[in-house]
Amino acid sequence: MKAHSGEVGVFVRIRPTANFSQDIIECLPDGQTVNIHHKKDTGKPLCPRKIQRSSWSFRLEGVLQDVSQEEVYTRVCRRVVLGALDGYNGTVLCFGQTGAGKTYTMTGSTESYKQRGIIPRAIQEVFQEVQKRTEHTFSVYLSYLEIYNETLVDLLASLQSSAHPSPRSMVISEEPGRGVFIRGLSLHPVHSEEEALNLLFEGEMNRVIGSHALNRNSSRSHCIFTLHLESRSRTLSDAKYVTSKLNLVDLAGSERLGKTGSEGQMFKEAMYINKSLSFLEQAILALADRRRDHVPFRQTKLTHALKDSLGGNCNTVLVANIYGEASKTEETLSTLRFASRMKCIRTNPAVNEHMDPAAQIKKLKKDVQMLKEELSFGNTLVNRPSVPYDPLSEAQLAEIDSQVQRYLEGSLKEISIISVSQVRALFAKFKLAVHRGQEQKVNARLRQTYNLGEEDRRADTPAVKEWDTRGSTEEDEAGSFEVSHKNTQRPSSTRAKTKKSKDKQSQSKRQGEESPVSKKRSDSASKPKLNTVQSPEREQELQEPDTESQEPQESQPNGKEPFHPDSTLTKAEAFDDFKMGRGSKLNRILQENKAVLLERRSLHRQLTDKVNAVKREIDCTAATMQQYKETRGGQGRYSEPDDTLLNQLRELKALYRQRYEVLHDIKAEINYCQHLVDQCRVRLLSEFEKWYKKYSLVPEEDLETSMDNTLDQVSLPECDDNQLPPESSSSESFHNARYRMLRRRNTWSLCVTPEQRSSSSGSRQRTLPQIPPVS
Ligand code: ADP
Ligand code: MG
Repeated sequence: MKAHSGEVGVFVRIRPTANFSQDIIECLPDGQTVNIHHKKDTGKPLCPRKIQRSSWSFRLEGVLQDVSQEEVYTRVCRRVVLGALDGYNGTVLCFGQTGAGKTYTMTGSTESYKQRGIIPRAIQEVFQEVQKRTEHTFSVYLSYLEIYNETLVDLLASLQSSAHPSPRSMVISEEPGRGVFIRGLSLHPVHSEEEALNLLFEGEMNRVIGSHALNRNSSRSHCIFTLHLESRSRTLSDAKYVTSKLNLVDLAGSERLGKTGSEGQMFKEAMYINKSLSFLEQAILALADRRRDHVPFRQTKLTHALKDSLGGNCNTVLVANIYGEASKTEETLSTLRFASRMKCIRTNPAVNEHMDPAAQIKKLKKDVQMLKEELSFGNTLVNRPSVPYDPLSEAQLAEIDSQVQRYLEGSLKEISIISVSQVRALFAKFKLAVHRGQEQKVNARLRQTYNLGEEDRRADTPAVKEWDTRGSTEEDEAGSFEVSHKNTQRPSSTRAKTKKSKDKQSQSKRQGEESPVSKKRSDSASKPKLNTVQSPEREQELQEPDTESQEPQESQPNGKEPFHPDSTLTKAEAFDDFKMGRGSKLNRILQENKAVLLERRSLHRQLTDKVNAVKREIDCTAATMQQYKETRGGQGRYSEPDDTLLNQLRELKALYRQRYEVLHDIKAEINYCQHLVDQCRVRLLSEFEKWYKKYSLVPEEDLETSMDNTLDQVSLPECDDNQLPPESSSSESFHNARYRMLRRRNTWSLCVTPEQRSSSSGSRQRTLPQIPPVS
């Protein structure tokens, strides 16, 4: 047999006898084949004799005839023993009729050392190997089990110091990682061959004593002698270890019940033996049949106890003991048939490797410590500060938190990286900050939506309400709210302001239309006056109330008055000029933003109509359902029409939610566009104001230079250096002082009436110069 070859090794051992029937049993010279030539008398008494001749040929792994005990061990068992030392489970079984030499093969003669059997030789080999394999440490345990009439007997129970476990307390169990084991069977550690042999003899003795005391035939029981091995490498990881079991099994006689003609206790014994051996055969047949995934191991104690030692991951060898006499031919045939079936079993031996969790933790801790030392050593070599590897303390975490806060606020420019754990903690804090930010945004959005809904209800218009799906029933959901176009409008306070501003605007417009303009420029004659400075809104047909308060009006409350008594150009005309000249770039951006805003608002209106259409359908369906309910009088489950309506309602609601989400996104875009438009407007107006205030009162001779300079500073970074005034500290102080004086004068001009200004300032004020367009 090859080690771990994956097939069950089957040998035939022929018991020597003086009456060996050579004409029946023929052993071929190949040493592997046995031919049985059987003559069977089928004739009836007083009838003519009818002899039936048959021949069978059995080819096995080896035929052991007239071979020594040593050769039997070497050929049959040695490789299985060595496999067990490597971590493979192994089983050697002796099978055959009573008196065929099973016990002789397995245990041998206890009196003669030379005739000792497989078990003592296996024990010897194991301890010799343990001595040789110095790179491993081995632990060896022994157990000796007898199965008699389906009862488990511990043959080494007498060696236990505590109370003997009764046979009933022994149970065959199975655990993942441990395989099959017998709970309650004593397991004896042995450290030498002698200790082990002592236990073997003790067990043999107990077997004989038991058979006498209980009046039972020792050959009527199965005996399983097991060596339990555990090995750990001395050189490699001590967390990994290997276990194996070597089962040496002396089976009970396999003779048939009819043949023995037994009765009483013997009948019972034979019945149990027949049962266990026939189940053993069934299990073997099932193991041999690759299509079968269930093997009936649990049918008897024998097969259950040998479950992980018959097929599967172990090395198995069977010795079929036969009697070489003619009278035993039927039993011989039966034994050989069993042997040839056993030969069909394929096995897949595997090492039983285990991990010791405690040892593994110990080893990993050691590894971690060693790696820390390595890192620390590496840091020292490159003059790096040592890195903390312990988990961050609460104080350190608080410090990281504070660093992240300051970094996000801008008060901390950078965070120096110390260790990987610190980086991880930083990321965690940043993530938290992002989450908080998102949460706040969502809350703000919800609040905004809620406020809008409240106002719209007050205004007696269809309102928008968030879907509250949490815990709402289908019927409740049906009563959702419609979406309003006003969704995108400002809150009421803003709208109130808008109205006021518009009144003011229209009033100003009327006044502006009536007011005379002292000087008409040909290109500005058709343009709106100061009171129409809000023209961007009018031009776009947009309502942009927030910005009105920021428009040039503030410096000219009545909105139509020229900014200077002598001025021939109103502020409105100046603003128009500014938009076409210096402010043209800003104005263009403003117009573009407004166009986008308009487009988004139009889209919002269209979508709102669609959402409201779905809402109306939902209401309609819900009402129909309610009608059904009422007509049914609230009895029983939903009927079929109800189910259809319910599905329809669900689909409509899904559509509503989908459209509502799109609507929500567009609303966010509108808000953003609105913000951009506001920003552009404020910028345009503020730059106009700056420009207007400065250049309206600057002496004519200084105007060209300083106007360009100021405008470039405000809005045109791409200025032409040639246009800048000469930079000298004296001229700068002079211009500053002059500018302050002019500002004061301008303020004064706003506080007095045109008549007062005209009388008090006289010809000191100058007219607004021609505004040069921005190139
Ligand atoms: P079994 O256990 O199968 O019932 P045993 O092993 O008890 O049979 O053998 C019955 C007798 O035959 C014993 O006295 C034993 O010494 C003897 N015997 C069996 N096989 C051999 C053998 N190969 N060589 C010498 N004696 C044998
Ligand atoms: Mg025997």
